[in-house]
Amino acid sequence: MDNLVALAKRRGFVFQSSEIYGGLNGFFDYGPLGAELKKNIRDCWWNDMVRRRDDIVGIETSIIMHPKVWEASGHVAGFTDPLVDCKVSKQRYRADQLFFAAVIVDGKTVGYVSALESENTAGELQAAAESFKRKKAVQGQLSPVHAKDMTEAQPDEIALIPSPATGEPGSLTPPRAFNMMFETYVGALRDDSAKSYLRPETAQGMFVDFKNVVDTGRVRLPFGIAQIGKSFRNEITPRNFIFRSREFEQMEMEYFIHEDADWAKCHQEWIDWCRSWLISIGLPESHLSLYAHPKEKLAFYSKGTVDIMFKYPFGVQELWGIAARGNYDLGQHAAASGKPQEIFDEATKKKFVPHVIEPAVGVDRIFLAVLCAAYVEDEAPDEKGKLEKRTVLRLSPRIAPLKVAVLPLLKNKDALVARAKELYAKLKRRYAVFYDEAGAIGRRYRRQDEIGTPWCVTIDFETIEKDGTFTLRERDSMTQKRINEAELFALLEEQVY
Ligand code: ATP
Repeated sequence: MDNLVALAKRRGFVFQSSEIYGGLNGFFDYGPLGAELKKNIRDCWWNDMVRRRDDIVGIETSIIMHPKVWEASGHVAGFTDPLVDCKVSKQRYRADQLFFAAVIVDGKTVGYVSALESENTAGELQAAAESFKRKKAVQGQLSPVHAKDMTEAQPDEIALIPSPATGEPGSLTPPRAFNMMFETYVGALRDDSAKSYLRPETAQGMFVDFKNVVDTGRVRLPFGIAQIGKSFRNEITPRNFIFRSREFEQMEMEYFIHEDADWAKCHQEWIDWCRSWLISIGLPESHLSLYAHPKEKLAFYSKGTVDIMFKYPFGVQELWGIAARGNYDLGQHAAASGKPQEIFDEATKKKFVPHVIEPAVGVDRIFLAVLCAAYVEDEAPDEKGKLEKRTVLRLSPRIAPLKVAVLPLLKNKDALVARAKELYAKLKRRYAVFYDEAGAIGRRYRRQDEIGTPWCVTIDFETIEKDGTFTLRERDSMTQKRINEAELFALLEEQVY
């Protein structure tokens, strides 16, 4: 992960936001290559989800919506995470990420230890318990620790659990609900009547505009409304680079189905679609898994939620959530606005509120997943054929920030440079490409490998003196072959879509 974060900074993929002022926790900027990569992820999703399907339309709704939207959706009352404060250090923790355990010696509780969630929380708590027993010189048999998070702490335990910041008990507060929506004021007044929110998800835009789309979009059930846009959550503990941030981008789609439709079948079809789509942009199947939320943890209206999980270097984590939400959202907005959100069924001559399947994914989480999966350190021969370490991003050509680098073999030979520039100009009309004439050819290849450019073409003397072909060098296999211009364009047409 450290190598990846360093590469992301060094090669201009991701920067800390406001870095010259010390950064702002939970906010990130995307540099020149990062902006290209992110745009490609978005474009692939939009093309596959919206343009290449007949049953889905795209919209773009505003980030700040009427505050009543968030009351009806349940976000004002319930979009919360459990928060624990340390009164001494002023640190704040998400209660479900702060773990504790009783230190039990010879069957008696002699104290408590705590640890922040990590890949080895139980191991850390066990080590802390052993150290506690040693420091307090307690004699007897230590029981294996049983880790719980702070949402499970009994009221009388809270005062005994040490704060991770100070190591001392007595300063942690009981968990309380912390609403994650960013508040703002619309207009010149700064009172409650002007209070609004930055949207914490894009989905509500699709529900609130449902009738507008039905009345204007010539859509018929089943159909979907898709949107890509920024969302904002005041996460208590943003972490793991861009995995959990406070400003991020979502790609969400609401797929509306008949109230009598087989929702489970449709849900499964969307799980399969999302999984295949991730594979189509280069994520390895071996890193993907599914997690079905247990029934007892679902919201009362939810019929089922399955997350597509990705094996990040810091653990297996949610990448894409696919939820069957019944007709809860449209029903809520109908009740709160007084405007029916129904569709007329020609077959039964009845009106009904459609049900919905919602695949919701974060662009930044996909961005991080593709970088993690693509990052490889291997070996490549240098100019003299000696093997040296090479860093390579094995990005799919679909999403790679640059598709081709055009390299004249020598920069002081006008004919080579002229032909290279001509090809570069032609490619540039359709693709993000790069022209590089500086340095030894091997070093130029290596620079492209590190940023994931799938192909380099080298213009050499054969190109200008013989048949016009040039060398195509492939990033992953490092193999080279001669091709002509038409073949290069055909290759790009096939691989970059
Ligand atoms: P988590 O449990 O990880 O907080 P969530 O279940 O609250 O996520 P959803 O509300 O289902 O997430 O949001 C849909 C998608 O948006 C997630 O699957 C994830 O890809 C993305 N996402 C959610 N929160 C963040 C965040 N803070 N930073 C980046 N992406 C996010």
